[in-house]
Amino acid sequence: MSTEKVRVRFAPSPTGPLHIGGVRTALYNYLFAKKHDGDFILRVEDTDQARYVEGAEQYIIDSLNWCNIPFDEGPGKKGDAGPYRQSERKNLYREYAEMLLASGKAYYAFDTTEELDAHRQDHEAKGKTFIYNWHNRQKLKNSLSLSEAEVRQKIEAGEPYVIRFKIPEDESLSLKDEIRGEMTIDSKILDDKVLFKSDGMPTYHLANIVDDHLMKITHVIRGEEWLPSLALHVLLYRAFDWETPKFAHLPLILKPQGKGKLSKRDGDKLGFPVFPLQWKDPNTGETSSGYREEGYFPEAVVNMLALLGWNAGGGSEKEIYSLEELTAAFSLDHVSKGGSKFDPEKTKWFQHHYMQGAKNEVLASDFQKILKEKNLDFSTEYVEKVISLLKERASFLSDFWEMGSYFFTAPENYDEKAAKKAWKEDTSAIMDDVIAKLEETEDFTAGNIQEKVKTWIAAEGIGFGKVMQPFRLSLVGAMQGPDVFEIAAAIGKEETISRIKKAQKAL
Ligand code: GLU
Repeated sequence: MSTEKVRVRFAPSPTGPLHIGGVRTALYNYLFAKKHDGDFILRVEDTDQARYVEGAEQYIIDSLNWCNIPFDEGPGKKGDAGPYRQSERKNLYREYAEMLLASGKAYYAFDTTEELDAHRQDHEAKGKTFIYNWHNRQKLKNSLSLSEAEVRQKIEAGEPYVIRFKIPEDESLSLKDEIRGEMTIDSKILDDKVLFKSDGMPTYHLANIVDDHLMKITHVIRGEEWLPSLALHVLLYRAFDWETPKFAHLPLILKPQGKGKLSKRDGDKLGFPVFPLQWKDPNTGETSSGYREEGYFPEAVVNMLALLGWNAGGGSEKEIYSLEELTAAFSLDHVSKGGSKFDPEKTKWFQHHYMQGAKNEVLASDFQKILKEKNLDFSTEYVEKVISLLKERASFLSDFWEMGSYFFTAPENYDEKAAKKAWKEDTSAIMDDVIAKLEETEDFTAGNIQEKVKTWIAAEGIGFGKVMQPFRLSLVGAMQGPDVFEIAAAIGKEETISRIKKAQKAL
């Protein structure tokens, strides 16, 4: 085994917000790098100017940071292999294309788009598919079919050209993927891919290989959609006589129901985010929801993504993993070959779990911000108390308001059904007695209130529900919430009595 330092890269194109599948690719790269004490590099593949989207690169960086999986080298960070944006490396690729021209492994092609289209249509009419390859390259307009003088003349006349890779004609290629194992591909089926475009820019294939080589990448971990390019990439390494990195192609993330890849458009359509952070499209102004803004903890999202296509093996049923535990347990051997169905309910399950583990003081200080927006101001101590009462059933910070707004403001109205059931003709008189008991309670703790009220109920021989239901309705406005004595103790004696009086008037 080689002892060279593990170096992996996440190489997104900044053509829009980073899809959750892209986040998973980044995460697996991060875990693999950290597991092997290696480097995790962010390389921005922005050679396609037409698809460049303002703000997308920053979005990618913000997303990795939010997930707590920062890169070691990349735009804005120091490193020996920079620059890390392909647009800043563009002068470097031509030289490599020329190296392949010189060694006869690539060639100039002058066919215009119209000519190629005509060939395509022609083939289609005959029920065939046109492929620019060994079979017909000799019949097309390129430096293999034309004389040297003709080629020189065209180039000097400024005729546009591309540089194509000359795929070996008839070879059985054995390829290896760390997840899928060995594969054999017949080079006959491959086309002579363009490496260098007429606009002077490299294609993805050339830039990607050159950069992976120059950046000393040891393992290429990327999405399954690149598996069909593996043969070409391996042939490119061979053509340059460079050492080939190891490859691992990650399975697709599938829609929750049915088949097919979870797409960027699915999210808001299916009712859950498919992006880590909210994204506002700079061109259309359209907003797509993000996990951060929906209130998810990054730990929950990371945990969920880690298990979407990977397991610890050995029949392990462990589901809760911190980033450190994931780093320790991760290996490419246990990445699945088949696609994994995205499960939004499972994401919520993880979220609920991480909510239970969150520190009340941290939640309280975050929740105080929500209260401020509503012009409500409560002490951290009080908010912490409320959180401790509601947390068990909460998954999101916003739940504390949804489930417990009555801790912060008196109910404005009362659940009609509950009121009908709980508030009878004699209720107001009973509540007068409850008020008297509350007045008498010196130290207004849940225990003391309960003791007072329950002893009185027992002495009077009134049905428990006849007291407790209207009591709850007065404080909460509905038949929900934690122990009613806890609620009373939290909001205090004065507020408790005032709410009962308010209910008496209203009901
Ligand atoms: N720029 C490519 C993408 O966005 C990178 C593929 C790779 O990792 O090689 O998918």
